Amino acid sequence: MTVDCDVAIVGGGPVGAAVAVGLAQRGLAVQLLDRGQGPTPRVLADGDDYDLRVYALAPSCIAFLDRLGAWSRIAATRSSPYQGMRVWENDPQSPLCFDARDVRAATLGHIVESGLLASALWAQLPVSGLRTGVQVVRIDAGEHDATLHTDDGGSLRTRLAVIAEGRDSRLRTQLGIESLGGQYEQTAVVCHIRSEQAHGGIAWQRFLPTGPLALLPLADGRASIVWSSGEAAALLALDDADFCRALGDASQHVLGRITACSRRVQFALTLQHADRYVGNGVALVGDAAHVVHPLAGQGVNLGFADAEALTDVVAEARAAGRNFASLRVLKRYERARRADVIDMLAVTDGLYRAFRMPLPGLAALRSRGLAVVNAAAPLRRELVRRAIGLR
Ligand SMILES: Cc1cc2nc3c(=O)[nH]c(=O)nc-3n(C[C@H](O)[C@H](O)[C@H](O)COP(=O)(O)OP(=O)(O)OC[C@H]3O[C@@H](n4cnc5c(N)ncnc54)[C@H](O)[C@@H]3O)c2cc1C
Repeated sequence: MTVDCDVAIVGGGPVGAAVAVGLAQRGLAVQLLDRGQGPTPRVLADGDDYDLRVYALAPSCIAFLDRLGAWSRIAATRSSPYQGMRVWENDPQSPLCFDARDVRAATLGHIVESGLLASALWAQLPVSGLRTGVQVVRIDAGEHDATLHTDDGGSLRTRLAVIAEGRDSRLRTQLGIESLGGQYEQTAVVCHIRSEQAHGGIAWQRFLPTGPLALLPLADGRASIVWSSGEAAALLALDDADFCRALGDASQHVLGRITACSRRVQFALTLQHADRYVGNGVALVGDAAHVVHPLAGQGVNLGFADAEALTDVVAEARAAGRNFASLRVLKRYERARRADVIDMLAVTDGLYRAFRMPLPGLAALRSRGLAVVNAAAPLRRELVRRAIGLR
């Protein structure tokens, strides 16, 4: 059988790029295809603004990026460590507190810009392994290989096709893999803000009846806002001054007055879960396989865990001389990931629903629940350990 490569990865977002780097480092011939032009290599100049899209990355993800050789590039450019997290519903004076020092860790994670993350990963790949400006429009998955057809009329034959197209994956649909879920009645409004008070390296999250509001600390003293709301259209329509006021009120002024905000962008929010992650010669990773509400900042974190699991399964099978693209081998990847993903889907969807319930007395019960967790140091420590990937 002649193939063009061992593994072709469709989609060069953070998860697809991580799979490509991981497999290339284990000696496989990979091709990474993306319909965009690829990230622009970033060398920051003074005053270079932050990308509006940022990710909160857990220490376990950072360790993974380090193994891929990408973290040192990000660290040498720009990232924003945070040491604590405060979660509350009604009373910001008695939030649920998570602190890195509770588990003797240096940080709970880093806020990293999407462009920096992408360019750090892409820089680890040989140029010959990158194809930009091509959209894969069709896949034919056969018994021993898969053929990808691109919108420029070309095709690529590969032993294994990794689908990393993100949540609107068209190839997933073509492969007959169903994705269950639906649209949340909330849209995320994302921007950066400046505030009167310093954030002190703390991430804040308030659960409002209209949706969760996160204030994530940036290294330049500003905060990145992810405000998931059923009233996003109204928030987007406000002028900057009114938006800052609304945000100050909604955050109960935990950072004092909000003095400035950047451009605002919006993201529709969905819950999705593919009914299977693999087929003969194909594997789904990242948002193509599962999409969670951003309230726990876990989407990329889950995707990187997929990337690591798939890389290990494929590289080990190849080293043992087995067909790494067979359904039997790929099922190992699915088994390694499915339970973890379902847990996260359940936690995020459960929190989304619990904090929206207007039943009388429920808010008091939730506040009591947060207080009980806060008072139970071992439970809190266990939650922190899980959140940062120490198990
Ligand atoms: C508001 C918001 C905040 C979030 N915050 C966090 C956070 O703090 N932490 C966290 O872990 N996660 C967060 N997430 C989740 C995170 O954004 C996603 O989980 C992540 O982007 C998924 O990465 P991916 O590589 O799977 O897909 P994507 O990032 O969607 O990348 C898919 C890539 O595939 C390419 N592509 C698609 N189809 C084709 C095709 N047919 N041919 C060629 N190329 C194709 C696209 O151009 C794109 O580059 C957040 C999400 C939202 C909406």
